[in-house]
Order: sequence, then structure tokens, then C-alpha cells
Amino acid sequence: MRRGVVPEQSLNDYESTSAQMITITGKTNLVGLLGQPVNHSLSPIMHNAAYEEMGLDWCYIAIPCDKKNLKQITTALRLIEFKGLNVTIPHKQEVLKACNKLTLIANNIQAVNTLIPEENNEWLGANTDLEGFLAPLKHHDLIKKNVVVIGCGGSARAVVMGLNNINVKKITVIGRNENSLNIFIQNMQKLLQKSDMVINGINSKNLSVTPYIEEADLIVNATPIGMNSKTNEEGSIPLGQETWKNLSSKTILYDLIYTPRPTDWLKLGKQKNCLTIDGLDMLVEQGALSIQLWSGFKDVPIKIMKSSAEKHLMV
Ligand code: NAP
Repeated sequence: MRRGVVPEQSLNDYESTSAQMITITGKTNLVGLLGQPVNHSLSPIMHNAAYEEMGLDWCYIAIPCDKKNLKQITTALRLIEFKGLNVTIPHKQEVLKACNKLTLIANNIQAVNTLIPEENNEWLGANTDLEGFLAPLKHHDLIKKNVVVIGCGGSARAVVMGLNNINVKKITVIGRNENSLNIFIQNMQKLLQKSDMVINGINSKNLSVTPYIEEADLIVNATPIGMNSKTNEEGSIPLGQETWKNLSSKTILYDLIYTPRPTDWLKLGKQKNCLTIDGLDMLVEQGALSIQLWSGFKDVPIKIMKSSAEKHLMV
């Protein structure tokens, strides 16, 4: 077997990096993220920064996982006593099958982003996206306001349920696929039977969305359009540049995406003097809530989690 030779320079780099690394011992507890892909995730950075600050001998790793292996992998990680798991795209709904119990929120949303170990090698499924999404909105009064949500996938479910909790008046969900939009609206209407909030679906392929955009107090992008190099046929701006021509400066734009920072859509919003919110606070808050659920500690160093993620984004 041919062995590689490490040049002197790289060896120095290695030594200086390893000096800053956490020490993993035989007692270190493991936690992690399941998704596909996970190599660009900020979660290992911000979680490990939190554990170091909290003095927890825990280590968080990103685990790439195909849909076909999800059940086997979650079972195996429970057997080797992982302290907890986060779940991301595209498994938040599929992972319900690996849960023996669900929290009320996860059951309502029918999506799980946090697995908590239970007795008998079982997993309890929870969802911290809803509270994470609401965290950056807590200083804005959205009672009886009009909201537009673009996209009707997994995170849109947490967004709609969260907006219902803060008593908005009306949500218009914009989708591009008639079938998934109809299913989404029907499911949400069933869940929100007792609520005064109105929820409607608009297919952007059949109807003009401009009137809904113009009357909105808050618009949430819950699609991946604008993320890294992901674009749709109109470019990197949800619904295309033309849609935003008459956007009011009073409208708040909230993009669930946190990389790039800002997205092209939020740049456009800033040019129109709108208040803009990106997805980093949501990411940090949902992660901090997961740590609370796994560790039982209420005091999670949110500021350290955010600054470690920001530093990493700048590299
Ligand atoms: P998802 O379940 O895959 O749903 C994506 C939605 O966007 C679907 O309705 C999909 O429509 C629509 N969509 C996808 N590509 C589109 C395109 N090119 N044009 C128009 N619509 C498109 O994903 P998700 O879990 O909801 O995540 C959505 C975004 O939120 C991702 O960028 C994710 O990173 C971000 N997110 C951020 C956080 C955070 O903590 N900040 C948390 C969760 C999610 P179809 O059904 O027609 O495909």
C-alpha cells in the first residue's frame, strides 16, 4: 500500500488546528444531524460551540443518510445511545415512521426535526422549527395582519402553525404544484378548524400573486429558491423579479434561508426599505431548543451559537 507523505507546512497546520479541537474520550456523548446533503450544515459548528461553553462532554456530528436507510440508521443510533438527533431535508416527514411517540406540536405539523431518546430503545419525535421560526418575530405585532407564505413543503407547515399561534388574520400560501398545494391547504384547514385565521392557497402558475404581495404585512419564503446556487426558471428570486415591483416598504420579508446572507430576495427587500429577517436566528433558536430537550438545561448560550455560525459563514 502506498502511503501519503504530509508536507512539513501541512503538519504545522494540523497541529495548530488540533490544539483547538474538543477532546473526545470514551465517555463523550454523541449527538448529530441526519439529512442529505449535510456537508454544508452549520449545526455541528454552533452545537459544539454551545457544548464547550456549557461544559458538556458532548460531540455533534453531521451524518449523511439516504431515505432508504433512515429507519435502520435511526434504530442503530438509538442502540449505540446517541443523546439526540436533529433531522433535516429531506427526512422531516419520513422520520415520523422511526418515532414511537410524538410531541403535540410534531403531531400537529406531522414533521419532526428533533429525536429524543426514550426508554426501550425508542425515539420521541419533536419539532422545534415552529418556536425557532417565531423567535425573530417576537418584537413585531402581527395580530390580525395579512401574511403570504411562499412554498408548501415541510417548513411551511411549521410556519403556518406558528403564525396561527400569534393570531395573524389571513395566510395566503403560494405554491407551484396544484396537487401538493391542495393537500397542504386541506391538511392545514383540518388542523386549524377551531381557529379564526383564514388560510387560502394560490397556484402561481394559474393566478397573479401581485394583489396578495401588495396587501401583505409579512412575506415568508419557505422554498429553497435563492439558497447557494439554487434558482428557478426566473432566477434566484422567489416568484421572479417582476412580482416585487410594487412591494411596500412596510412589508416585512422573512427568508428561511441563511446562506447566502443576505439572499438576492432580501437584498431586493433592503433596496425597497423593507425590514428583512434571514433564517439564521431560526436555525440557532431551533438548535438551542433541541439542546434544552436533550440536556434538560434551560440556559443554552444562544449568542455563542449565533456568533460561531456567523464566523463560519464568513470564512
Ligand atoms: P421542502 O419540504 O422541500 O419544501 C420546499 C417547498 O418549496 C415546496 O413547496 C416546493 O414545491 C417549493 N419549491 C422548491 N423548489 C422550488 C422552485 N424552484 N420554485 C418554486 N417552488 C419551489 O423544504 P423545506 O424543509 O420546507 O425547506 C425550505 C427552505 O427553508 C430550505 O431552503 C431550507 O433550508 C429552509 N429552512 C430553514 C430553516 C432554518 O432553521 N432557518 C429551517 C427549515 C427550513 P414543490 O412541492 O412543487 O417541489
